[in-house]
Amino acid sequence: MTWSGVGTPDPPATLGTAEADDDAADDDEDLEAAGAPPPGPHAVSAASATVATAAHVRTFTRASVRPGTDGKGRARCRRCAGVSSTSGDRVVDVVVIGAGQAGLSTAWALARQGFEPSADFVVLDADDGPGGAWQHRWPSLTVGSTHRVHDLPGLPFQPGSDGLRAAEVVPAYFADYERRFELPIHRPVRVTSVSRTDDDRFLVRTDSGNWTARAVVNATGTWTRPFVPRYPGQELFRGRQLHTVDYVSPDEFAGQHVVVVGGGASATQLLGEISRVTSTTWVTRRPPVWREGPFDEDAGRRAVAMVEEAVREGRRPGSVVGVTGLLVSTPYIRDALDRGVLERLPMFDRITREGVAWDSPDRFIAADVLLWATGFRAAVQHLAPLHLRGPGGGIAMDGTHVAGEPRLHLVGYGPSASTIGANRAGQSAARQLRRLLRPEAQLPRSA
Ligand SMILES: Cc1cc2nc3c(=O)[nH]c(=O)nc-3n(C[C@H](O)[C@H](O)[C@H](O)COP(=O)(O)OP(=O)(O)OC[C@H]3O[C@@H](n4cnc5c(N)ncnc54)[C@H](O)[C@@H]3O)c2cc1C
Repeated sequence: MTWSGVGTPDPPATLGTAEADDDAADDDEDLEAAGAPPPGPHAVSAASATVATAAHVRTFTRASVRPGTDGKGRARCRRCAGVSSTSGDRVVDVVVIGAGQAGLSTAWALARQGFEPSADFVVLDADDGPGGAWQHRWPSLTVGSTHRVHDLPGLPFQPGSDGLRAAEVVPAYFADYERRFELPIHRPVRVTSVSRTDDDRFLVRTDSGNWTARAVVNATGTWTRPFVPRYPGQELFRGRQLHTVDYVSPDEFAGQHVVVVGGGASATQLLGEISRVTSTTWVTRRPPVWREGPFDEDAGRRAVAMVEEAVREGRRPGSVVGVTGLLVSTPYIRDALDRGVLERLPMFDRITREGVAWDSPDRFIAADVLLWATGFRAAVQHLAPLHLRGPGGGIAMDGTHVAGEPRLHLVGYGPSASTIGANRAGQSAARQLRRLLRPEAQLPRSA
């Protein structure tokens, strides 16, 4: 098998399930299995030392949450043994992890709630530059072919033309946003683990020194956790296998037969493009859910409510497309339907050296390329030491925070995994953290 990728951050996660449709479920195995953090004292690197100045570091004052409780007076998880922070750790009220739509809207809202940038909160982002996942989207994705990028709070997104590349204009907008609001973003800084300290704060370990915080807002999205299901024979395939995150342009497939796997928006969009230069086969695990539309606000609310219910009950968030369906009136879908490109086959049973095969009825299709448009999982492996996974298989949530832990918010997760949802969740998390960490504080007039 040949895996090829451009800018793939990690090898795709391959799990022993046959979950092939677009899926943003969290990866419970990762949640439990991530390795223990490295022992010993944690040096502050030269890069991070630049921020470890008196102006940026302040003395920790005890939170209003009693140690050993979850903020509602309930005893906390006994398996989550505390670790000691060290004198080199930098101390803030809130660490935000990730600077995509979710992290930026949270940072903006924290500042509005009276948290001082750098002194009270920081944003740690693993990417080299602004833009979150948008900087990695494939070049042919234009502003007009996105499902709309909503304004970040406080600054309208005005790209000028629908034909511009999303991977350029959205990062430029985010860069402008970070500058204008002087958001305290540290990059590239990758968070490797989050654990509890023995005095009940959070220890945030990174590849560039540690932070301790009274609260954490995780806003790490899904892009770094591409999901590929496992099928028998996959390792035998002699052609090329790639995931949506590796896709660059249809031209690279000219003259090859491409099997696209997945029932989500990315699959239909990539099929639309690739079918213009070569032959394609589309396979999905379940029949696609076509929606004649329009997808109005009521339908949006209902879709979000279904995902909300899942995460409240500690189930995996599941596929957003499974809830919303594929909108037939979307221009690229309409066009692909008209050209007969979206004739779907059920999921194959096996992968062979030369292609994909079904048992019943007996069928084989030769393929040069398997394109897995099979979605993503939440990038939450670094939270493994907190043992968040519950019996439902996911992280039980109460609004934007982890159930029973009002100091740990997941923004851009589950029902807020969209640009508009992330905006709202970031602002909600900031309001809750102000009430929790600073119950006595006067809300600034502008908030
Ligand atoms: C192909 C595709 C198209 C989409 N199109 C749309 C659309 O048109 N409209 C829409 O509303 N939504 C869309 N979405 C959903 C989209 O992902 C969200 O709307 C939104 O952009 C996600 O923002 P985010 O901040 O949650 O995550 P991201 O934009 O992924 O940002 C996460 C940030 O966290 C950082 N990070 C990750 N792990 C770590 C770590 N361990 N330590 C430090 N930093 C870390 C990353 O570097 C990144 O900067 C799309 C999703 C996909 C996959």
